[in-house]
Amino acid sequence: MNDLRDLYQEVVFDHYRKPRNFGCLANANRRAEGDNPLCGDRIKVYLTVENGFVSDVGFEGTGCAISTASASLMTEALKGKSESDAAKLIESFHASLTGAESERGDLGKLEVLQGVREFPARVKCATLAWHTANSALKNLKETVTTE
Ligand code: ZN
Repeated sequence: MNDLRDLYQEVVFDHYRKPRNFGCLANANRRAEGDNPLCGDRIKVYLTVENGFVSDVGFEGTGCAISTASASLMTEALKGKSESDAAKLIESFHASLTGAESERGDLGKLEVLQGVREFPARVKCATLAWHTANSALKNLKETVTTE
């Protein structure tokens, strides 16, 4: 467990300092905004969806280390996935942080974010980008709020 905690801190810090795919995507055809008023995290997620695949992902925003790191990891995880695989991954990621242990799927590299389960108040920080990506993916055109 200590190893997971160390890895969690290392990965969160790394992605917070150097967020991947940060910035507005000029060619995005789907986008959504998310807001976590509990912590003050705000995010915009941009997706380029072509032929049923998420060909590019970007995000912008301001927030705490966990929300930024989770958004950064999310962009890496969704890029290149089919729309249905992306939707499934979003669902299992969300279940892994909020649901029962048995609902955890294989999250690969994202496993490290399970560390946030030790800090229940921060779970919404970790899931914000994913809720927002879900809204963008499904073209819901609504701002996501974690409350
Ligand atoms: Zn936060």
